[in-house]
Amino acid sequence: SLILAIETSCDETSVAVVEDGRIIRSNIISSQIETHKKFGGVVPEVASRQHVESITWIIEEAVEKAGIRLQDVDAVAVTQGPGLVGSLLVGLVAGKALAFSLGLPLIAVHHIAGHIYANRFVQELEYPSLALVVSGGHTELVVLEGPGQFRIIGRTRDDAVGEAYDKVARALGLPYPGGPHLDRLALAADGAVQLPRAWLEPDSYDFSFSGLKSAVLAALNTARMKGLDLAADHVARGFQDSVIDVVTEKAMRAAKQFGAKQLLLAGGVAANKGLRESLTERCRQSRLPLVVPPLELCTDNAAMIAAAAHLKWERGEFAPMTLKAEAVLSLEEWSVKS
Ligand code: ATP
Ligand code: MG
Ligand code: FE
Repeated sequence: SLILAIETSCDETSVAVVEDGRIIRSNIISSQIETHKKFGGVVPEVASRQHVESITWIIEEAVEKAGIRLQDVDAVAVTQGPGLVGSLLVGLVAGKALAFSLGLPLIAVHHIAGHIYANRFVQELEYPSLALVVSGGHTELVVLEGPGQFRIIGRTRDDAVGEAYDKVARALGLPYPGGPHLDRLALAADGAVQLPRAWLEPDSYDFSFSGLKSAVLAALNTARMKGLDLAADHVARGFQDSVIDVVTEKAMRAAKQFGAKQLLLAGGVAANKGLRESLTERCRQSRLPLVVPPLELCTDNAAMIAAAAHLKWERGEFAPMTLKAEAVLSLEEWSVKS
């Protein structure tokens, strides 16, 4: 099958053509980072306008790069949510128009299912498996009971990991999005500021990062008042160590409890070098196979949306033309029918 997928949930406009849910024929990603940088974050109105400006040529480019004709496509997939409604809407309308004019089925995709199934491009997935989702808006431990069957066993109670990275990076004066800059600073650091770890209740798989973020801001303020200068790389290292300790430990514990055959890393923060190293080491010790998407498939892209859409394609679960964009959407409810 050839699935054409569209992703516009935040500030990347992306269109991909994927064969059989695992061969990427094209994956065009147009990032709006340069636009949003001057505001220090994504401005929804601006994002939505820019999606409108680029969606048509990105669809054309994805089709051309894939070496196919639009008539060769078997289904059109779109990200339905979660995300910014004004942004989602642009992709949704484009997807509906394509599906309608070509007489093709429309497939609605959950953005986080996409992040998780980015791992399908690396290797065949085995079940049950455990996904550690760490992105700009989500931090979750998800048990995959079967293909496309999701059960969330833990989630953040406040900030998402990516969000915490971006906020701490901003306090350190790093450019938006700060995650990759903070990662680089932390890895090169020759020392670390000691910061707290939020383990929550002993048996909980939930997370909390707002306390850590506040601790960083308090340390920076205290130092400033005393006229001292906290080395930014020491702050970055302390912050990154705290995040990695907690997410790695909880993921390993959950993988064991739920009998996971693989640990899947997913979401934009999956690009984090420190996190990849820590999980690689722990999984090696526990003889647990670790699957990590290549860097370009960690952050938002449409290929991952096509990979998740393939689960629904196989079962003929299609969306009606009345499909609506959803800012909030349940991953568990999006699961394929068993
Ligand atoms: P969601 O997927 O939850 O809707 P999103 O789509 O906005 O959120 P992603 O594109 O998945 O988020 O990921 C972007 C986030 O990943 C940003 O917060 C960014 O700072 C972070 N990120 C990217 N690379 C790194 C890195 N190397 N280290 C830490 N964080 C990173
Ligand atoms: Mg983004
Ligand atoms: Fe994302």
